[in-house]
Amino acid sequence: MTLLPIFLDLTGKTVVVDGGTIVAARRTKQALSAGAEVHVYDSNLCDDFKPLLENKNLKVHTRPINIDDIQGAFIAYGTSNNPQRNQTLHQGAKMAGALASVDGATKYSDFISPSVVDRAPLVIAISSGGTSPIIARILRARLEALLPPAYGRMAEFMGRFRDKVSHTIQGIDKRRRFWENMIDGPVGDSFLSGDAEAAEKQLETALENSDKTPDMGEVFLVGAGPGDPDLLTFRALRLMQRADVVLYDRLVGDGIMELVRRDATRIYVGKRPDHHTMFQGDISALMVKLASEGKRVLRLKGGDPFIFGRGGEEIEKLARHRIPFQVVPGITAAIACSAYAGIPLTHRDHAQSCIFITAHGKDGVLDLDWGVLARPNQTVAVYMGLASLNLLTTGLAAHGISGATPAAIIDNATRPNQRIVTGTIANIRHKAEAENFTGPSIIIIGSVVTLRDQLGWYSDHQDGKFTMSLSAKINIQ
Ligand code: SAH
Repeated sequence: MTLLPIFLDLTGKTVVVDGGTIVAARRTKQALSAGAEVHVYDSNLCDDFKPLLENKNLKVHTRPINIDDIQGAFIAYGTSNNPQRNQTLHQGAKMAGALASVDGATKYSDFISPSVVDRAPLVIAISSGGTSPIIARILRARLEALLPPAYGRMAEFMGRFRDKVSHTIQGIDKRRRFWENMIDGPVGDSFLSGDAEAAEKQLETALENSDKTPDMGEVFLVGAGPGDPDLLTFRALRLMQRADVVLYDRLVGDGIMELVRRDATRIYVGKRPDHHTMFQGDISALMVKLASEGKRVLRLKGGDPFIFGRGGEEIEKLARHRIPFQVVPGITAAIACSAYAGIPLTHRDHAQSCIFITAHGKDGVLDLDWGVLARPNQTVAVYMGLASLNLLTTGLAAHGISGATPAAIIDNATRPNQRIVTGTIANIRHKAEAENFTGPSIIIIGSVVTLRDQLGWYSDHQDGKFTMSLSAKINIQ
């Protein structure tokens, strides 16, 4: 973060605006609504000022601004697009000790004005640090669409109970949990559906019973998908925002961890550089312990938690200890690889079924049901197969599968470093070696692989992806 976001109280403060442009009107409107007395200097005010002229805190001066006009001001906005005026404004602001912000001229600005989603008293300010205002605007439009207008009123409604809740519920953690349950639960639902009376009653009842509710936490077993944070589910994201503690492993990348609540405790339970992994039993025991202490525990796993992820084993113990839990599916690696490689796992002309296997070799042996893999008209998606690729391909050949059978390896699917090779059972190993794949990788075997030539759509280079999605978004705008 290079710029510090803050929300200023402008009550009783003076703000000067140089210019009568649309930007000037926007700055004026925002400063007025934050309580400032605003002085605008220009002989020609645009129409956007019309609705503001009644406001008694607005003073219009139909002359150019002087350096002296800035004395005593808290903020000076330059919006005239005139370099000479901008420079004067900046100079005057420095002499007066005021913050200056000049539209389009960072060298004269102490701060930039963010894109704002206004659900007063709830306000969201977005900035791209001046690099791309259009991205900030696109984001703002999305958030506008996402946040019902009633959110602002809900903040006000909840705010009325703040003192009472602080009195009744002791302990910052307990209070936070109470509020999260209220906002994200039936009280929030009632309020947003327009029934403030019911919401109030529900909140009062919850408050009266707050000391009776047992202090039991819960566990969210959440699939984080293949790596691209964009592929998380809404529910995953919501629970990631609610967790007190997160247990995560190697496949969960930084981009996803960024989205976990900032102040949640992060515990890494994956393989460490010394290759020591926390035992499954220890992970389950830790979850039981944390949840028994009343914590909301997020168990975040790559892909889908129930596909080769031992998610089932981890929650068996929770079930035995009667710890509440919920499971959120994620996009499993084979599905993600299929989409991002342009290789449909089933296709009427090629395969009517698909099987997922792991090829995790032990002591140089791959214990697979080779007969099943050799079935016609099917696709095989292999997890954890990179290290034993040699055993896999020779094993398939030994069990009668033609060396000409198409195969693909998708490495780091959906991530910026995604790479793909295609070939055949006979040559895929050498191709993979030449690429120096690091994993995680999925191997797809079957004639569907040939469809990639027509259906591949995703560029393996991050730049390509960025250009593509950005231009798509701009077109939508
Ligand atoms: N539960 C996970 C799988 C865990 S097993 C899921 O549903 O996807 C780990 C294996 O998943 C890796 O060895 C690799 O085969 C595969 N994998 C996970 N993420 C991947 C990715 N982004 N690209 C390719 N393969 C991936």
